[in-house]
Amino acid sequence: MQKLESNVVLSPTDLANHLACKHLSWLNYHSLYGGARPSKNDDELTEILQQYGAEHEATYFAALSEQLAAVNRTIVNLDIDRDPDAPYSVAALRERAALTAQSLSDGPNALYQPTFFSEDGGIAWVGRADFLVPTDVASLLGNYSFEPEDTKLARIAKVNAVLQLCSYAEQLTKLQGIEPEFIHVVTGSAKEGKVTIRLSEVSAYFRHVKKNLQQAVIDKFEGPSEPVPVENCNMCRWNKDCAQWWRERDHLSYVAGLLNGHRETLVSHGITTLAQLATSPDDLSVPEFEDETLHRLRRQAQLQYNTRVAKQANPAALPETEFILPIKDFRGFNMLPTPNAGDLFYDIEGHPYRGDEGLEYLHGFSWKEADGTLKYHEIWAHTPEEERQALLDVIAFINKRRSIPGFEEMRVYHFGHYEPSALRRLSTRYATAETELNSLIRQRVFCDLSRVVTQAMRIGVESYSIKKLEQLYVFNRTDLVADGGLSIVYYEKWLQSINNGGFGPEGDTGG
Ligand code: SF4
Repeated sequence: MQKLESNVVLSPTDLANHLACKHLSWLNYHSLYGGARPSKNDDELTEILQQYGAEHEATYFAALSEQLAAVNRTIVNLDIDRDPDAPYSVAALRERAALTAQSLSDGPNALYQPTFFSEDGGIAWVGRADFLVPTDVASLLGNYSFEPEDTKLARIAKVNAVLQLCSYAEQLTKLQGIEPEFIHVVTGSAKEGKVTIRLSEVSAYFRHVKKNLQQAVIDKFEGPSEPVPVENCNMCRWNKDCAQWWRERDHLSYVAGLLNGHRETLVSHGITTLAQLATSPDDLSVPEFEDETLHRLRRQAQLQYNTRVAKQANPAALPETEFILPIKDFRGFNMLPTPNAGDLFYDIEGHPYRGDEGLEYLHGFSWKEADGTLKYHEIWAHTPEEERQALLDVIAFINKRRSIPGFEEMRVYHFGHYEPSALRRLSTRYATAETELNSLIRQRVFCDLSRVVTQAMRIGVESYSIKKLEQLYVFNRTDLVADGGLSIVYYEKWLQSINNGGFGPEGDTGG
């Protein structure tokens, strides 16, 4: 969203933002008129993703060029003379849009990076499609017309991409006189490839979202707006600002396991903060909740509140915890097998955008030797071939350990469902080791400690992620890799440092 002369200029990204979070549009709009600016800038992970996006686009450009050359057509690159540092002005946008219109009339060659720009009553729409590809359907242009195609790193055609393409299709319709029949998302998955969608099946939804956003702009986003945590928050440039807003208000969303629906219900009963829920009377009645749900949420809030008070007195205080009783069969601690000297602790690091289907680049195992020393075994993969081999090596490593006398009943502990799911995915992708892997899963060799913890205990923390729970078993993290996104950044840096080649150190290491 931008303001140019008297126009508010919207783009397809604003449609996707509005769909993801109305408060995001509200913040963006008011920042145009002197309101706050977002605190967060693009981070290293965003830059890496942009780089992968550019590579994906370049690969498709080459493939499309080849395809068109076979029918004596080409791609006209409208980005080639665009000055990225030129001031962003209405005049410049009109000029770029005129170039698009002219290029469409010139003949049935594909266009790369065509700009669209339209103005209507103080609201303008700007957009730059990746490609407009010619079809043999006649239009005002002649015996041909165009359909928009966009390259996306995502493995599936997401709603954002579809809205974006609908927006280009709408602008294109004005120029060629007919609606394109199809829009196309060139996904980042070699398997999915290009996903083609019939425009008539999605255009009503696009018009609904667009009308909604335009009306909000016409109404000048009047009235207050409050942030509500949504899936998009992790990716949002306002997330620090919203997090501060929530923190200042002791927002209910900080209660672990409390969903937006729970929060709305509690607010309707006058409970708006974590502290209010924690200190609510035992006979609190919320008819919309089942007793078990209300008890769970109140106890969770109380443990977090008590932990907060304890930490104010002593910052080193540990979170307050309690067991969930009675322990039911096949739940919580009843899922834990008998400890075995051969037990392994397992973690995978994956890179969702490397290669055609993502890359599980590191499998790490740790265990305790009889003398108490900790050992670590790492299995690296930097190519699909190595990834396949890593799957075989992981299974061989586990089976070899199970064959050691006394270790037959050993287990592989992991936190969350990612590890077994990733192994299954690799086994299917490479059509290998399915029998061996199924055998390990059937024999319950893998044990998810996250399920054990969440079914067995309540803990005074805002999230039951392993990073938040480390303090309970006094694990002092000395490395800098605090989350999965950062591990991708470090892996990328390492790849660059060895000029995109080579292998990670292998073998057992102490510690
Ligand atoms: S951080 Fe979340 S709530 Fe705040 S504007 Fe962004 S998406 Fe909306």
